[in-house]
Amino acid sequence: MENCLFCKIIEGEIPSQKVYEDDEILAFKDINPKAKVHILVIPKKHIESLKEISVEDEKLIFKMHQVLNVIAKEQGLEDYNLVVNCGKGAGQEVMHLHFHLLGNP
Ligand code: AMP
Ligand code: ZN
Repeated sequence: MENCLFCKIIEGEIPSQKVYEDDEILAFKDINPKAKVHILVIPKKHIESLKEISVEDEKLIFKMHQVLNVIAKEQGLEDYNLVVNCGKGAGQEVMHLHFHLLGNP
C-alpha cells in the first residue's frame, strides 16, 4: 500500500529493528517505547485496523497471537500487555494493523 509507513518498513524502504519475521508477519521495536519492551507485531498484508478484518484473516490473526507469545518469551516477559488502537478516534496513528506488545522483564 502506497504511503503506508508500515508497508514501507515491510519492504525495507524504512529501516526497523526487527525481532521476528516470517512470510506473513513482521515484528519490530517501537521507535518511541512506552515500556522496557515495546514491540509492534504487524501482518505483511495491509489491513487498516482490527475493524477491517475478514473471515479469510482468521488464521493470520491467530498466528499473530502465537507470535506475540513467542516474542514475549524471547524478551523475558512472563506476562505482558497487548494494546491495539482501532481507529483514529482511539488514537491509531498508523493505519496498518499493529499489536503493541508491552512489558517490563
Ligand atoms: P498507534 O498510535 O497505535 O498507531 O501506534 C503507532 C506506533 O508506531 C507508535 O507507538 C509509534 O511510536 C510507532 N512508530 C512510528 N514510526 C515508527 C518507526 N519508523 N519505527 C518503529 N515504530 C514506529
Ligand atoms: Zn500498510
